[in-house]
Amino acid sequence: MPVTSRQRHATRLHGIPPTIFSQMSALAARTGAVNLGQGFPDVDGPPAVIAQAVAALRGGANQYAPGPGVPALRAAIARHQRRHYGIDLDPDTEVVVTTGCTEGIAAALLGLVDPGDEVVVLEPYYDSYLAMIQMAGGVRRPVTLRAPDFRLDVDALRAEVSPRTRLILLNSPHNPTGTVLTRAELQAVADVAVEHDLVVVTDEVYEHLTYDDHGHVPIATLPGMAERTLTLSSAGKSYSFTGWKVGWATGPADLVGAVLGAKQWLTFTSGSPLQPAVAHALDEEPDFPRRLAVELRERRDLLCAGLAAAGLDVREPEGTYFATTDTSALGWPDGLAFCLALPERAGVVAIPTQGFHDDADAGRHLVRWAFCKQPEVIAEGVRRLAAADLRAGGR
Ligand code: GLN
Repeated sequence: MPVTSRQRHATRLHGIPPTIFSQMSALAARTGAVNLGQGFPDVDGPPAVIAQAVAALRGGANQYAPGPGVPALRAAIARHQRRHYGIDLDPDTEVVVTTGCTEGIAAALLGLVDPGDEVVVLEPYYDSYLAMIQMAGGVRRPVTLRAPDFRLDVDALRAEVSPRTRLILLNSPHNPTGTVLTRAELQAVADVAVEHDLVVVTDEVYEHLTYDDHGHVPIATLPGMAERTLTLSSAGKSYSFTGWKVGWATGPADLVGAVLGAKQWLTFTSGSPLQPAVAHALDEEPDFPRRLAVELRERRDLLCAGLAAAGLDVREPEGTYFATTDTSALGWPDGLAFCLALPERAGVVAIPTQGFHDDADAGRHLVRWAFCKQPEVIAEGVRRLAAADLRAGGR
């Protein structure tokens, strides 16, 4: 049998599927479908911030940035945490700039998890968590946020903690479910972390994209948590610059040091010219994310109404770019089969989230839809769904 390139892959990659987001975006491009799959906005962030990036490129900010990040950006990140949450950080030791939050996740897991260590993680999990826990040699211990409410089951969380638990990997606002953990839920996580002396790594990239009265509470602000929480975020979602890949990790110096320790061998440093521009965004456009959230709430409502009208059970998200539906009411017990049929049936692409679950039964029928798109794009997607026969077996 010929040796295929797949057989040459290291075992640390075995069983990790290619990212579903790229697969589904390729499907959308191939079929000309309206792409409500991968979460990226179709309008860029503030022009003044882009102008800063252009100025930095032209002004010579083109050689290596310092390892932890450009000082102006680290200072702006520290100010951001103070302004929004009252968190005090030393920009020299408690902030590191990463190449998107994705590198922050990778560096945190590589820097904090030893082979055999257990990581308690919410499922459905963002796909890079699965990949990076495995690449770090860790063992995932999922806690399922179950349909239809996708709330945290604190007893289930406690049941996954063992003497081998190294850390809890949290994500709120939560992709893909749109759940924003309440203060009480976060307090329950904090109680477990303090009781078992655990580190919490928290992905808060949708921190500013919450709706109605569902405010984001960083778990680092709860009593006893600042010293054990590594907070990850980025400019991508807050400022509609997902392709810039500028993120950060903040928290106590030893945890941030672990991120930097791994990061320096992954990317060495992050791209120089975008960092001053993101510093400008954080300092000079502090209200942009809130205005974006107001727009997104309207788009959420437009999408959710359209999904419900198409016969899908939709859960109204409290935050993020995404709404999750149950496809079983239309006769599809399998969300992947639904998503593969959808471009031809309706000319729309969405994301099946079953691959983000260990508990296959909990996720099989779930499909995620992005509303970070212009209203006319969402309206066109909804119009196509309304015009199509979406019932299993139908045409
Ligand atoms: N965060 C984006 C989403 O959830 C996708 C990023 C990616 O494609 N890796 O859709």
